[in-house]
Amino acid sequence: MDNAWIIRGGALLDPTDGDRGVGDLYIADGRIVADPPAQARTIDASGLTVMPGLIDLHVHFREPGHEGAETIASGSHAAARGGFTTVVTMPNTRPAVDSPEQVAFALRQAASAGAVELLPSACITRERRGNALADLPALAAAGAAAFTDDGSTVSDDDLMQRAMQQAATLDLPVMDHALDPILAGKGVLHDGEAAQRLGLLGIPSAAEDRIVARDIELAAATGCAMHIQHVSSGASAHMISAAAARGLPVTGEATPHHLALSDADILSDDGNFKMNPPLRTPEDREALIDAVLSGGLSILATDHAPHLAALKAKGIRQAPFGVVGLETALGVTYQLLVVERGMSPQAWLQRWTTGPAALLGRPAPSLTPGARADLALVDLQTDWQVDPDAFVSLSRNTPFTNHRCRGRTVLTIFAGKITWSDVDSTPRL
Ligand SMILES: [Zn+2]
Repeated sequence: MDNAWIIRGGALLDPTDGDRGVGDLYIADGRIVADPPAQARTIDASGLTVMPGLIDLHVHFREPGHEGAETIASGSHAAARGGFTTVVTMPNTRPAVDSPEQVAFALRQAASAGAVELLPSACITRERRGNALADLPALAAAGAAAFTDDGSTVSDDDLMQRAMQQAATLDLPVMDHALDPILAGKGVLHDGEAAQRLGLLGIPSAAEDRIVARDIELAAATGCAMHIQHVSSGASAHMISAAAARGLPVTGEATPHHLALSDADILSDDGNFKMNPPLRTPEDREALIDAVLSGGLSILATDHAPHLAALKAKGIRQAPFGVVGLETALGVTYQLLVVERGMSPQAWLQRWTTGPAALLGRPAPSLTPGARADLALVDLQTDWQVDPDAFVSLSRNTPFTNHRCRGRTVLTIFAGKITWSDVDSTPRL
């Protein structure tokens, strides 16, 4: 039988069900099944953890427009290497994803790459200009999974409110790159110690906090699910946690870089430490970690943002914002949250699976028979160091070069098909 597998002897980790101990898992016709299928091939997973593939709610694949930095195919394969089986792409391509044709294009390219399920988000406003609403019902009908003008916020409160009213009727979330463009100005780093030391303009935390407060008000007023992207400020993390605790449809995501790094780590004029929003203070970083541990921030996401090396080499003032993350996310976050901060592996896995799935209105990823066979087989025992030259992504712009990690994807399976295999460490196949 095609794509029939017996995954033997792995430690089964289910985000909904917890640690199931060592056991076998069976796959047939792209789904997890209860009984061993006939004529199945065997994968020896001894020493590995078998868990649902991760969902990344926030990636930038640069097609169309900047295919030298990343294509939908190269990004899909980088995702598979990172243990991801589903990604949500951002619409700030050129042209932007503000038409049903652009949504259909992304879906077609992803289907031909075949390495992950790609869920396109689409623009809130036409051409991401913040002036007029895009045709949200038409975008939804074409397959948009969420709406965002990521890269910028929608500054016009009334326009954002109308977008959320429409999105609520379409049962889709609005996601916001919460940053007030006036307060952010031409800043390039957090308005703090590193910016002063390097003589660079700062972006105050207030630029984020002000918009997060507004977005929470709009979620309360409209009932629309509001998701705050790449939360960087401790005050914003507190607001989101409090809103969620009050029962409002508000969620937030933290990125590996905002959790593992702060502006104190920016030691030189290195463009690989420039991202939007910026790395903030060590105190902000601690508040973000606390919010992820408590569940106030229920989602981890990479904000994978590939850029050409030549552009990143221009230094912090001139380099574009953004860092890659798909191939380091699992190891960086497992090391930080589970190894160093004592988070349970199940809770860590929930932030990468059930958290984003709930926002997207999709079934909770699990190892239960009937679930689509989207799996990551990971080595959670061995330390490794980040080597950007090994990336499958077309871009190398990471702040994590030589970063010590635990948690490495050995094999990824998407809908029953192997999409990544680390041949060196899987002679057992
Ligand atoms: Zn953004």
